[in-house]
Amino acid sequence: MALLRVLGSGKEVGRAAILVEHRGRGLLLDYGVNFNEDDIPIFPEHVRPRDLEGIVLTHSHLDHIGAAPSLFTSITPEIMATPLTLDVSRILLYDMIKLNGPYLPFDEQSVDDMISSGKTLHYGEEVNLGDFTVTLHDSGHIPGSASVLVEVNGRRLLYTSDLNNIETKLVGPARLDGLKADVVVIESTYGASNHPPRLETEKRFIDSVTEVVENGGTVLVPAFSVSRGQEIMCLLAERGIDYPVWVDGMIRQVSELYMLHSQYIRSPGLLSRAVSEFRFIRGWQDRRKAYRKPGVIIASAGMLKGGPSLYYLKKMATNERNGVFMVSYQAPGTTGRQILEEGVFGEERIPVLARVEWFDFSSHIDQNGIVKVLRGINSVEKVVLVHGDPGAQEVLASRIREELGIDVELPANGDSIEF
Ligand SMILES: [Zn+2]
Ligand SMILES: [Zn+2]
Repeated sequence: MALLRVLGSGKEVGRAAILVEHRGRGLLLDYGVNFNEDDIPIFPEHVRPRDLEGIVLTHSHLDHIGAAPSLFTSITPEIMATPLTLDVSRILLYDMIKLNGPYLPFDEQSVDDMISSGKTLHYGEEVNLGDFTVTLHDSGHIPGSASVLVEVNGRRLLYTSDLNNIETKLVGPARLDGLKADVVVIESTYGASNHPPRLETEKRFIDSVTEVVENGGTVLVPAFSVSRGQEIMCLLAERGIDYPVWVDGMIRQVSELYMLHSQYIRSPGLLSRAVSEFRFIRGWQDRRKAYRKPGVIIASAGMLKGGPSLYYLKKMATNERNGVFMVSYQAPGTTGRQILEEGVFGEERIPVLARVEWFDFSSHIDQNGIVKVLRGINSVEKVVLVHGDPGAQEVLASRIREELGIDVELPANGDSIEF
């Protein structure tokens, strides 16, 4: 009998950590962190590195990789990911150490040990680790992201990890159709809701950007350096904009890695056009120039918690001709959320006079999408919901039970499920 143990992402978004066990040996799927209100990383439940046959990292978001270096101490477990995930993970983990070093049980050395011992695995390639056979499949979430199919003891478990089933500028939809799995562990971030059609969101974004710049203003787009920043770059490059587009923060380094691993990009030509046409900020002189003339500034961090986007916000917020366009989820307690809810920012509560808008460019599958993906997978006996809030999970679970007639479980952290 194989066992699935939820070490993190049970009844919560993020902190992904799923352990598959058989005959005392484990295969760990992701080992990520979440951050509490004080921005301190919180880790998943413990696992002994020496009990692991291997670790699979599905993609480079910190909520899937942030705790993984802590497993690389005296012994080095086998670690696997797509080559792009490994490369981008190094940048993000270094950055995490810079911001949260004192709270972390590892340093740059552990990150280097982990990445350099990493085995690259491409979509569709099969690898054996003890009793486990592992294959990665494109999950459509961000470039290089993967769902993991695990075969053990004659049973098949599919861990979707973060998933998207629509075509975006940067990546195509997940490719899980036709797979066979007895158990599907699936994310449920948007289990209770559906996104507006992507094309509508893109159109509204471009229309709003055009209105602001043609009226003499500058648009600040706070964006995550992994994937969302490049998505907006590609969108602007595709539609063509007659004003300068500036790019600031880690978005640049990640864009370079995306170009290097262009087989994971839906339209490498588009990204390469954006990279060559747009202006990457090279210092304070550029920064001061960027917000003074009509144009667009894409800058990290995505929730305005810090980084260059916060600098631009301070310079741009009080001019009503400017725009602050948010393109990702804004977590409670962040500056982005404060602006959306109260129209002010910071402890000084500075009023934001610039035009504020929020756009749903989510890279997570919605409720209709989840049901559709599950329909496409063969012989599913059980669905396990992770990476979602309990409320959303309940709604989704009822729909799956009623519409698909499949057994659904909603484990909490620490729970085990036999399969
Ligand atoms: Zn996630
Ligand atoms: Zn993710």
